[in-house]
Amino acid sequence: MVNEKRKKPKIPITSKEKKLLDLVDRHEEAISQLLQKLVQIESLNFSEFKYWDNREIFKFTKKFFDDEGFGTEMFEVPFKGGKKDEIYYNLIGSIKGSSAGKTLQFNGHLDIVPFNEDNWDSDTPPLGGVIKDGKLYGRGSVDMKAGIACQIMAMKLLKDSGMKFKGNLQMWLVPDEETHGTYGSIYMTKNHFDKVNVDATIISEPSISHPLTSPNIGIGEKGPHWLKFTFHGVAGHGSWPKEKSNAINKATKFMVNAKKKLKIPKQKAPVTKWQTIKQLIKRVGIAGFREMRAFTPEKLPLDKDKRDSGIPYRTTFSFNDIKAGVKTNVVPDRCELEVDFRAMPGLKTQELFDSIVKYCSKLKYRIELPDGYTNLQHTDPKFKDEPVDVYMSILTIGEGSATDPHSEFGKVIQNAFSAVYEASPIFSYNTGFSDGGNMREAGMKDIFVFGPGGRNAHNANEYADLSTLKDVTKLYLLIAYRYLNS
Ligand SMILES: [Zn+2]
Repeated sequence: MVNEKRKKPKIPITSKEKKLLDLVDRHEEAISQLLQKLVQIESLNFSEFKYWDNREIFKFTKKFFDDEGFGTEMFEVPFKGGKKDEIYYNLIGSIKGSSAGKTLQFNGHLDIVPFNEDNWDSDTPPLGGVIKDGKLYGRGSVDMKAGIACQIMAMKLLKDSGMKFKGNLQMWLVPDEETHGTYGSIYMTKNHFDKVNVDATIISEPSISHPLTSPNIGIGEKGPHWLKFTFHGVAGHGSWPKEKSNAINKATKFMVNAKKKLKIPKQKAPVTKWQTIKQLIKRVGIAGFREMRAFTPEKLPLDKDKRDSGIPYRTTFSFNDIKAGVKTNVVPDRCELEVDFRAMPGLKTQELFDSIVKYCSKLKYRIELPDGYTNLQHTDPKFKDEPVDVYMSILTIGEGSATDPHSEFGKVIQNAFSAVYEASPIFSYNTGFSDGGNMREAGMKDIFVFGPGGRNAHNANEYADLSTLKDVTKLYLLIAYRYLNS
C-alpha cells in the first residue's frame, strides 16, 4: 500500500462547513441503506434497440425525492417503434436556495448492464445488495448506484441543514448511459436543453483507482465510434478457393494490416502522460509512484498483452465482433465486422472517416460511408466504376471531449477536494465514455466526472466499497455549498 502525502488545504473547512459535513458522519448508514435499495431494484439495459422496462427504479427515486421535499419533474421518452406503454424516464429533482443564483447539477445513470448469475458467488447475488466485509455487492453497485446514493444524500443534507445557499441544486437521473444515452443524455440535451444546460455538472461515475483512496477528477473522455463494416465478396464451392473475393479473407486483410497502415491523426491528450505522472508523484512521492508502476494485477494464463500505458493517449481500435459463413464447403460472400474505435478529443469524426477511406484505398477496397459524410474515394477516378467491397455503417458515435479544469468551478472542486481529503487532486482523463461526452457535444460547459470506489464494474461480484461513500458525499456537499454561495 502506498503512502499518500497529506497536504494542508488552501481553503480549510470553516466551522460552519464542519457542522454541515458532520451531518454526513451521522448519516453514513443511511447512504448505504439507500444504495442497497437501489441495487435491489433491477434496472437492466441490454441494448438501445430493445426496450427494457426500468420504470420501477425511477418511480422509487421520484417518491424518495417527493418524500424529502425536493421539487421533481419526470420526463417521458417513448421507445422508438415500441408499444404505447414502452417509455423511458428521465427524472430531475431539485432544491432551491433562498435567492437567485447559479445552478449546480448532479447526474447519474440508473441503468445497469446484464449479468450471468452463475458466475457470481452464491452468497452475494447480483440483485441482493448484500453487505459483507465493508463491501456492498450487486450489479450496478459501484457503476453507479453508489455515486447516485452519495449525491442524493448530499442534496438531502444540504436541504435538511437549513443552511443558506443561493440558486439551485438539481439531480438529473438518466435511464440508458450504458447504451450511450439515446433516451437519456442525448434525448434531454436535444429536447429539454434549458432544463439540463446549467452552470456546472458533476457526474458521479466511480473514479477511485487502486491503490488511491480518493476519487480522480475526470475532465474528459475519448469518443466512441462503434462502426460496422460489411464486406462483400463472391460465393463459390469450398473445393475451389477464392483467395481475393472470399468475404472473410477481405475482412482478415483489413484487420491484419490496420495496425501498420491505418494512419489516424494524432491529438494531444487533455491530461498528458507527463502531467499524470507529475500529479501522481505529488500525491504519493517518487517511491510510491515506483511502487504503483511495479504493481501488476493478476493475469489470466491466456493474457499475452503487456500493460500498454500509451493507450489513453492515442486513438485506438479493437475488432470485437465478426459474423460470416454459411457452411464449411461454401465460400462466404458476406462478412460483418464490428470495430470499436475510441477517438481522442480533438479528432473529428470526418477526420477519422478520412483515415479509414485512405486505408481502404491502400488495400484497393472501394468503401461506402453513411450519408452525410464526405468520401474521399468519390473524387478518385480509380474507384469510379468499381463495385463496392465494403459498406460502413454507424452503430454509435460520439466525439472525444474535455472540460477546462482551471475554470471557476474547477477551482471550487480543487479546493474542496484538498479540504476534504487533505491531498492534492488528480485530474484524469478516461478511455471509456460517460454521459459527459454527450453533454459536452451538446454545448454544456463545466462537466466533471468523479465518484466513489469499488471493483468489478460490468463483471461478476461487482461491489461498492462502503468506506469510500462518506468522504465522497462530503466532497459533493462541500462543493455544492461553496459553489452555490460563491
Ligand atoms: Zn457507469
